[in-house]
Parts: sequence; structure tokens; C-alpha cells
Amino acid sequence: DAILKLERVCKAYNVGLPTETEVLHDIDLELDHGEFLALIGPSGSGKSTLLNIVGLLDRPTSGRLSIKGHDTAALGDAEITRLRGHTIGFIFQYHLLISAFTARENVMMPMLVDRGFPAADIEARADRLLAQVGLAKFAGNLANNMSGGQQQRVAVARALAMEPDLVLADEPTGNLDTKSADAVFELMRQVNRDSGTSFLLVTHNMDLAQRCDRIIEVVDGRIRA
Ligand code: ADP
Ligand code: ADP
Repeated sequence: DAILKLERVCKAYNVGLPTETEVLHDIDLELDHGEFLALIGPSGSGKSTLLNIVGLLDRPTSGRLSIKGHDTAALGDAEITRLRGHTIGFIFQYHLLISAFTARENVMMPMLVDRGFPAADIEARADRLLAQVGLAKFAGNLANNMSGGQQQRVAVARALAMEPDLVLADEPTGNLDTKSADAVFELMRQVNRDSGTSFLLVTHNMDLAQRCDRIIEVVDGRIRA
């Protein structure tokens, strides 16, 4: 069954203005629970826009987006925020860690913000997640003082903090050397196998794309098989 279903999703920017442009056209896409999907395509083709819509950061202009069977058009902003927080984890190319915080504090952050987690468990859970990404010894290090690959592992741990059903990763290995990129990819693959978390990975790295369950190519705002 699908964690994610898009039916004829369109997205236009600057709606109603002379500069109105539709950048996504009739996107149909389904992602099953546990699936690891690669999203490829040239720069400007609409990958980030699609990720923003799937990640509930932006709304489609038309079409239907369902997440875990919820039709998102029927949900208000507060419900969307809640669904996002409990369903989706994000990893970006530039990890967006808080550099003056430790690895542990960065991973604790989503749990502190959510307030649904018992406060007493949050630190221990952050440490377990850091152990899972191979950083048990680095929990107390400032993000600032860690290598690019280590910081991206912290970002993976942080993305998993709320036990998401789906992780959206936008070029997470884009600014890493080949060896670190490989390690971060394999880490995500491992998480996917162990926990059944679905992944949608935007990447320009064809070697990594070919190691995913399925590849979808976006060209000029449309999906090419
Ligand atoms: P990709 O991630 O594949 O590089 P994007 O989704 O960032 O593609 O961009 C797709 C198209 O939409 C591009 O032509 C881009 O300039 C345009 N675009 C993206 N975001 C906006 C925005 N906020 N306002 C107007 N146009 C945008
Ligand atoms: P990438 O190609 O790595 O996806 P972009 O440079 O296309 O990154 O986009 C970076 C950010 O700028 C995105 O959040 C996108 O929505 C926004 N953006 C891209 N193009 C435009 C545009 N023409 N007008 C306004 N915002 C844009």
C-alpha cells in the first residue's frame, strides 16, 4: 500500500500574476511503504518543487496529494504541520545543523519542538539515534567541529527523530567526496532495510540512483518513465 500518492498534481508559481508559470504538470506518482526511490533530472526540472509538495511545505495548485491515505486538500494548516512532523523527515544538501549545538542537541531538536515526546526520554533517544548512524562517540561534539560526512550522519539521525514513515533527501551527498557520499547513502539504505522507512532521494549521482529500488526522472515538470 502507498505511503504517498500523487494524482495529476500541478504546481504553478506566481499564480494570477503576469509571470505565472506552471512548473509541474500532471504528476502521477505512488510510493509504497518501505520503498527507496531515486528522483533524478536536470537542474530546473522541478525536483525541489516536487519535494516541497510531497514534504507538505507547499501545496499543489491542482490535483490530489494523499499521504498515508489522508487527502491533504481536506486538511487545514495545523493538521498539515502535525502530519508533516509525524510522517516526514528531511535531509538537505547543506545539512542545516545548528553549528553551535552539539550533535546530540541537534538530534534532540525536533523532539523538543514537538513536545509530544516525554522530556526524560529525549536525550537517551538522541544518543540511540547517533549510535545507529555510527556516531556514538561524537554525541557531545559541536556540529561545527565535525567533518561534512559526519554532519550529514547527524542530519540523518535528526531526520529519524520523530520516527517518520518517509524521509525526503534533497542531494544529501551533493557536497561530499565519493567515499563519504557512499557511506551516507549506505547508511540511509540500512535504515530503510531495518525500519522499513520509505525514502525519496533526489540525486545527480547515477551510481547511487542505480542502487535504489526504482528511478523516476523528472524532465520539464513531467515524469519520464
Ligand atoms: P530542480 O529542483 O529540479 O532544480 P526547481 O523545482 O527548483 O527544480 O525549479 C523548477 C522551476 O521552477 C525552475 O524553472 C525554477 O526557476 C522555478 N521555481 C522554483 N521555485 C520557484 C519560486 N518560488 N517562484 C518562482 N519560480 C520558481
Ligand atoms: P536546486 O536546483 O538545487 O533545486 P534552485 O537554485 O533551483 O536549487 O532553488 C533553490 C531555492 O530557490 C528553492 O527553494 C526554489 O524554490 C527557489 N527558487 C528557484 N527558482 C526560483 C525563482 N525563479 N523564483 C523564486 N524562487 C526560486
